[in-house]
Formats: sequence, structure tokens, C-alpha cells
Amino acid sequence: MEETYAQAIPSVIGGFSFIVFSINRKDYELFLVESILSIKSRFMRDMDELFAALGQSRFRSRFRLSGKEAEYLGRKGVATILEHARDFVTRRLSEANPANDGRQTPMRNHPVFIAQHATGTCCRKCLEKWHYISQRKALTVEQIDYIIEVLKRWLTEQNV
Ligand SMILES: [Zn+2]
Repeated sequence: MEETYAQAIPSVIGGFSFIVFSINRKDYELFLVESILSIKSRFMRDMDELFAALGQSRFRSRFRLSGKEAEYLGRKGVATILEHARDFVTRRLSEANPANDGRQTPMRNHPVFIAQHATGTCCRKCLEKWHYISQRKALTVEQIDYIIEVLKRWLTEQNV
């Protein structure tokens, strides 16, 4: 006997609620967070909008390049500093759920570290909050390229 739509729809809904209720609440919340992030991250955050939002944050907007970090950027040039940035991001940020998250980026001693705190690219929690990049997945090459672009813009705007 062929199933009618009227019979099929409740069985689909029933099946879906069975799936939802058979996973625990924390997993379900993570599933929702991941779903929202995957939609948001499909449209990488517009740079102008991002920098406007960073400017609204009292914590992020107080970072400036000065002293020896500014001198180092001036001496080495943005291209070399961005090579360092790619190395830091790859080594310190690219794995999923890093154990030392929030402590992997020092507050001084390299212009990239200052730029990372200023732009919310300092740790996986900040990358998720500011850039919609899930902290539960390893970074892709595209995401690393995007982070380097964000750092480049901030460093360039410092005019050193
Ligand atoms: Zn952070």
C-alpha cells in the first residue's frame, strides 16, 4: 500500500524528534552553534564592518603599535611581518580545541601579537566570537589567509 503525504509527514517529524531527543542537551546546543556558525562563516565577515565593530570595543580599540614593536615593523616591513604572522597562526592557532586556548598569544614582543589582540584573532574563542570561525575544527587554508588579511589591514593602518 502506498503511503500518503498525510501519513508520511508525521512519521518524518517523529523521526526528527527521535534524533533530537536521543542526543544529549550539550551536544544539541553545540549542533545549533555549529549550524549558525556554518551559515555565518559562508559569508566571511566584511572587513569594513569588522573594523567598525572592533572600533566599538573598548578592549580591542585601545591596542596601538608603539615602541619596539612599531620599530620592528618599520625595520622589517609588512611583507616579512606577515610571514611571521602566518607562522604564528599556523603553529599556535590552527588545531581544533587547543589545550592552552586564550594563553597562546603573548601581549607584547612582536607586532603581530598586538595586532592579534586588537583584531580578535588571538585565540580560538576570539576567532569564533569575532570571525564566526568554529573553535571545534582545525583552521582551513582559506581561514588562515583571511586571518592574515585582517592582520595586514590592522598593521597597515598603524602607519609605522
Ligand atoms: Zn583571544
